[in-house]
Amino acid sequence: MYIIFLGAPGAGKGTQAANVARELRLVHIATGDLFRQALEQGTELGLKAKSYMEKGVLGPDELTIGMVLERMSAPDCELGIVFDGFPRNLVQAEALDKALQEQDKAIDKVLYIKVSEEELLKRLSGRLICRQCQTPYHITNSPPRVWGKCDKCGGELYQRPDDTVESIRKRLEVYYAETAPLIDYYAQVGKLLEVDGGGSVDEVGRRIFVALQGSVYS
Ligand code: AMP
Repeated sequence: MYIIFLGAPGAGKGTQAANVARELRLVHIATGDLFRQALEQGTELGLKAKSYMEKGVLGPDELTIGMVLERMSAPDCELGIVFDGFPRNLVQAEALDKALQEQDKAIDKVLYIKVSEEELLKRLSGRLICRQCQTPYHITNSPPRVWGKCDKCGGELYQRPDDTVESIRKRLEVYYAETAPLIDYYAQVGKLLEVDGGGSVDEVGRRIFVALQGSVYS
C-alpha cells in the first residue's frame, strides 16, 4: 500500500504518518527528516539542502527525488510506504507516479489534513523536535514528560531553526503556491481523502483510520 500525507507545515502530517506507518507496518519516508538527518551528519546531501531549509523554500527536485527513489529501492519498502512531505510539487508527484508505475504499483490514497492558518501558526511556533528520533512535541498541546527530553528515546528536544515566525510565513507561502495544487491533482484521479486536522492527535488519528477504512478496505 502506498499512502501520501498532504497538508501545510504544522498540519500534523509527521505524527499521523508515523502512526499510520506503525499500525499498517509500512515504511515511513519523511523527506524533511531525511534532510535534517543528513544535515546533522554533515553529509554532502545535508550541506546541499542546508540553505534551502534555512530559507524555508523547497530543495531542488532532482536532489529530493533522487533521495526518495534511493530510499524506496531498499527491500523494507516492498510492502508499502507512507510518504510524508513528499511530493511537494507537480514535478515530484509525476516522478513518484512514474517510479511506481515502472514497478506496476501506484499510489492508493492521499490523506489531505486540513487545518486553518491561525491553528498552523500556533502549532508551528510552539513545536519542539527530538534531535535523535525526530518525534514532534508542542510546548502546550503535547509537552514531553520531562522538559527538554524525548519521551520515546530520551533525546534532546530543540526548536527547528525554520520554525521562526519569518520562516514559517515563507514556508506557508511556498506551500500554497507549490504544494496545494496537488490537492486537485489527486482529487481528479479519485485518490484524495480530506480529513479535518483540528483537535487532538488522537481525534485526528481516529478520523484518518475511519477515512482509510471507508476507502482502501471497502
Ligand atoms: P519539513 O520537515 O517537511 O517541513 O521539511 C523541511 C524542509 O526540508 C523544507 O522547508 C524544505 O526546504 C525541505 N524539504 C522537505 N521535503 C521536501 C520536498 N519534498 N521537496 C523539496 N524540499 C523539501
